[in-house]
Amino acid sequence: MSQRSVYIAYTGGTIGMKKTANGFAPEAGYLTQELKHLADLNREDMPHYEIHEYPNLIDSSNITPHDWFDIAEDIKSRYHEFDGFVILHGTDTMAYTASALSFMLEDLDKPVIVTGSQIPFGELRSDGRDNLITSVILAASYHIPEVCLFFHDRLYRGNRAQKIDATNFHAFGSPNFPPLAKVGTTIDIDETLLIKANTRPFNVRKIEPPEIAVVSIFPGMSAQMLDNLLIDPIKGLILQTYGMGNAPSNDKAFLKVIEKATKRGVIVINISQCYRGRVDMQGYETGNRLSQCGVISGFDMTTEAALTKLYYLFSLGLSRNEIAKKMQISLRGEMTQ
Ligand code: ASP
Repeated sequence: MSQRSVYIAYTGGTIGMKKTANGFAPEAGYLTQELKHLADLNREDMPHYEIHEYPNLIDSSNITPHDWFDIAEDIKSRYHEFDGFVILHGTDTMAYTASALSFMLEDLDKPVIVTGSQIPFGELRSDGRDNLITSVILAASYHIPEVCLFFHDRLYRGNRAQKIDATNFHAFGSPNFPPLAKVGTTIDIDETLLIKANTRPFNVRKIEPPEIAVVSIFPGMSAQMLDNLLIDPIKGLILQTYGMGNAPSNDKAFLKVIEKATKRGVIVINISQCYRGRVDMQGYETGNRLSQCGVISGFDMTTEAALTKLYYLFSLGLSRNEIAKKMQISLRGEMTQ
């Protein structure tokens, strides 16, 4: 069998950063140089790899949907040459990028694993080495036809992951879906959880983000503030609600603002503020009122998945009704039905 091969794209993020007078920042050429000297990555029993550093390395706080398209196009241009893809990325917005790619990469049939680190590669005790080496092994050796996020010792479905810790090595969680793989002395993949392989031709869908707002409700929130926000050109609102999808049902002004927006065609998605659990607008009267105002359930989607899915569906040019329908069904395993 010929040697397996993996394409590594370095987009920026801590893993390839160096200390500067203003704090850590990515430095061109630095990570590529470090990888050359990493004995483990260059062993005979490791897959072949090629690394491509992006010309404009960024702290992932600067990521835009345009950058997602660049990553997706990069994967597409090398798709047939490699067995898998590892995207090195900053942790701050890694879950957004993994979610966005999961929708943009249509009919993906190879692993795309997004990873990074909390400590730069060249520093003592960096978690980047293990994260990178394990991601390369996973991307080369297993048929995982989906976008994943690997961190510390877990492989997550990309659109289920969330950053949960700013400093700990265990920086990501997947609140509503089990990890696809657990990595210890052995690599244990739960094949039953993986998206099914497909033979349709791989395609990249560009997303043009429409005006979407994300609002977390809180006691004392002003209906006027929401009304001011929900004016044209807002096309969608992700409403982060209490518990199982509840909001103040006694606040008539608030409900009126929501109803006015949905009647105008704004898609309002109900996502829980809770880390774990799912929205059920039939559970309490307070949630039920939202549903009567035309709010759609986001079930157990993360905010990252709901936002990037909305971007994707709007970019398909679908009608409001079609978008609302598709928001409530799983397209890439992003929600439990
Ligand atoms: N600010 C960094 C980034 O997201 C944090 C990291 O990579 O861990 O690019």
